[in-house]
Amino acid sequence: MLSLVGALLPLVLKGADLDPLASSTLSGAEGKSISVIKCYPEGRMKACGLSFDDGTLPSDTKMIAILNKYGLKATFFINSEHPQSQQALQNPAVYQGHEIASHGAHHQGLDHLSLEEAKKEITTDQQILGKTFHCKVQGFAYPYGAVPKTEEKRKELEDMLASIGIRYARWTNGGSFQPPDRFLAWKPNSGIDPNAVQHLIDMPIQDRILLLTAWGHSRDLEKDQGWEKADRLGKLLADSRATIWTATYLEIANYINALRAVKISNGEIENPSADTTVWLRVNDRIIPIKPGQHRRLDEKERASGKTLPSRE
Ligand SMILES: [Zn+2]
Repeated sequence: MLSLVGALLPLVLKGADLDPLASSTLSGAEGKSISVIKCYPEGRMKACGLSFDDGTLPSDTKMIAILNKYGLKATFFINSEHPQSQQALQNPAVYQGHEIASHGAHHQGLDHLSLEEAKKEITTDQQILGKTFHCKVQGFAYPYGAVPKTEEKRKELEDMLASIGIRYARWTNGGSFQPPDRFLAWKPNSGIDPNAVQHLIDMPIQDRILLLTAWGHSRDLEKDQGWEKADRLGKLLADSRATIWTATYLEIANYINALRAVKISNGEIENPSADTTVWLRVNDRIIPIKPGQHRRLDEKERASGKTLPSRE
């Protein structure tokens, strides 16, 4: 029996390590417990990232007009050397305030390219897009959602992406409302669909953050009342600003990576990030932890703990 417990224990501990977004319970003063929940900026528990592929005008211009009307930011994946994106490259001002990311210079599926060819596709984009849009390109979306077939090849590709400064790589499907385990294999869970936003709004808040990752092509909004739907989606997100954080993919990936790295133990909280303030819900209080900050929960925070239910 003892040996069985011994054999199981490392698995349990490993499980806790694998969920760095899980909430924690600390013991506070006078036997009270303090719950610490990792949340989005200003204590929100829900986030939404929107992205649009292929850099096609004039439909991107129309989509951006809707986003700007509602004060929302999105991510645009552009092909620097493909004809479909050339108008976008000639009109960089249209994208002001939004994130520009790579979709491969020539919109090629990476599943049939060598590692060197794949690297060239993306670094070419990083150079041209960076120069044209005056930004650092740190995101990528797989053209056609074509990822290498084997885990080994995917890992090789992810290592290459990380080595050229890519922080996240978006697939085209397969995700859930949970943040991805690895942002270099970021699977979205919705198209540009106001019903998905409504679903996020209706989801009950628990002790773990939720994420809606939506993507599409602005040109597809030209049909099936697409623009009305896009407007409805924008209005829903704007009206839910207090509870849903809508941000670019890069902001979301960087924030969640920083949140995952936060260490909580023995009433102490440490944010090792060099540049990102993270937010925690400590019982009912919302507390920002600045980059590099290592703090104990103060007495007021500790004393605000809920009384533990008595054991019967
Ligand atoms: Zn595409």
